[in-house]
Amino acid sequence: MRDTLNDIVVVGAGMAGLHTAEALRERGFDGRITLVGEEAHRPYSRPPLSKEVLTGVGLDPSGGGPGWLAGHRALRLREDAAVDALDLDFRPSSRAVGLDTAAREVRVAGPDGTERALRYDGLVIATGARARRPDTDLAGVHVLRTLDDAEAVRAAFGSGGRLVVVGAGFVGAEVAASARAVGMEVTLVEAAPTPLTRVVDPRVGRVLTELHRENGVDLRLGTGVTGFEGRGRVERVRLADGSAVEASLVVVGIGVRLNTEWLRGSGVELRPDGSVACDAYSATSVPNVYAVGDLANWPHPRYGGRVRLEHWTNAAEQGEAAAHNLLAGEGRTPFTPVPYFWSDQYKMKIQLLGQGTPADEVAFVHGSPEDRKFVALLGRDGMLTGVLGLRSTPRTMRYRGLLEKPTTWEEALAAAGVTPAR
Ligand SMILES: Cc1cc2nc3c(=O)[nH]c(=O)nc-3n(C[C@H](O)[C@H](O)[C@H](O)COP(=O)(O)OP(=O)(O)OC[C@H]3O[C@@H](n4cnc5c(N)ncnc54)[C@H](O)[C@@H]3O)c2cc1C
Repeated sequence: MRDTLNDIVVVGAGMAGLHTAEALRERGFDGRITLVGEEAHRPYSRPPLSKEVLTGVGLDPSGGGPGWLAGHRALRLREDAAVDALDLDFRPSSRAVGLDTAAREVRVAGPDGTERALRYDGLVIATGARARRPDTDLAGVHVLRTLDDAEAVRAAFGSGGRLVVVGAGFVGAEVAASARAVGMEVTLVEAAPTPLTRVVDPRVGRVLTELHRENGVDLRLGTGVTGFEGRGRVERVRLADGSAVEASLVVVGIGVRLNTEWLRGSGVELRPDGSVACDAYSATSVPNVYAVGDLANWPHPRYGGRVRLEHWTNAAEQGEAAAHNLLAGEGRTPFTPVPYFWSDQYKMKIQLLGQGTPADEVAFVHGSPEDRKFVALLGRDGMLTGVLGLRSTPRTMRYRGLLEKPTTWEEALAAAGVTPAR
C-alpha cells in the first residue's frame, strides 16, 4: 500500500460510497475515511423503494434501529454494528458544494448550512443521480429516487384514487405493478411503443405490455405527456394525443440527472451528459480522485466504447474496484465487469447480463416470450453482448461466464446447444 494516503474522503453515501468505504477497510486502509452524504439516512438499498416499500410486502416493522429506516428492513445494506465497525467519520445531511483539486479540499455544507473544507489525500466521487423532475409545482406530482420520495408515495397510496405513472422504464413499470398490488387504479403513460424500449427487444416489450394490461393497468403507449393540470393539486394529466387522464396522484419516472454540478471548474473532467470521465481503472482526470457508481463513465473493452451503468450491482463492484486501485499504486486492475441488472414486476423477475439494445440480434435459447419464461441471447456484429432472462434465474446466470470474455455469436449459440440457422 502507498504510504501517502492518510485521509480518504468518499462523497456520496449510497451503494457505491458504502462499498468503497468497506473495501478500503478490507484492503487494510487504517487512516481516516470520511463519508459525506446529503441524505439524513445511513446508506440504504434503493431497489426496494419501488417494490417492497410501496407494497408493504417484506417490510419488518421491527427492522429499523433508533433514528433510521424504521420498518424498512428490506432497505438495509448492513447491520448497524457492521457499519459502526468500519469506524467511518460519517457526515449525514451534508452536501458537497465544491472541489479544489489543487488544495485537495472538498467544500461541504453541513446540516446547519455552514460550509467547511475537508482535506483529502484520496477522493472518491459517488454522488450518483437524482430523478428528473417534470416542470410543475402542483402537489401530488412525485418522483422516486430516495427513501423520503418513496415514503411520500406510499403515504399517498393510502388515500387511494387514480395514479398516473409517467414513463414505463423500470422505475415507472415497477411503480405501476406495486400500485396495482395494493389496489390503486393505474394509468401508465409511455411515449415509446412498448415498455423498457431502451433496453429490450420489442417482443419482450410486448410481453410486458400484456402483463400490465392483464393486471388491470390502463396502458397508454406511443404518447407523451404535455402537461399537468389542477388547482394547487394535480387533477389531470394532458397527453400528446389530445386526451386527458384524471389523476389524484402522479409518479414521474423519466430518467435521472447526474449529481456532478459540484465538480464544475474543479479540473475533474465531465462528459457532455454530466458523467465523470474515468479511465479503465475508474480514475478521473485528477490524480488520486476516483469516481464510482451511476455517475462514472469509463472505457469497457468488451463493449466497444465507453459505458455508464445505472445498476445496483455495478455501484457495489465499482466501489470495490476503485478502493483497490486507489490503494494499489502501481498494481492497479482495470474494471471490466459483466453488467447485471434486474427488475421485478408482477412477481416476475427480468434479468439482463451484459448489455442490450432493441437493435440486437436475439435468439431465444430456452422457453419463449409466449411462455413468459425464457432466456434470450443478445448479439451485435457477430459477438455475444448480453443475456436476457424472464422467470429463469438459474438458467440466465449460467451464461455469465460467456460474457466474461469475448464470445462470438456462434460460440454462444453452440454453448446453448442451438444450431445456427444458415
Ligand atoms: C426506485 C429505484 C429502483 C431501483 N431498482 C433497481 C433494480 O431493481 N435493480 C438494479 O440493478 N438497480 C436498481 N436501481 C438502481 C440502483 O439503485 C442504482 O444504480 C444505485 O443506487 C446507484 O448507486 P450510487 O451509489 O452510484 O448512487 P446513489 O444511490 O444515487 O447514491 C448517491 C448518494 O449521494 C448523495 N449525494 C448526491 N449529491 C451529493 C452531494 N453533492 N454531496 C453529498 N452527497 C450527495 C445522494 O443523496 C445519494 O444518497 C433502482 C433505483 C431506484 C431509484
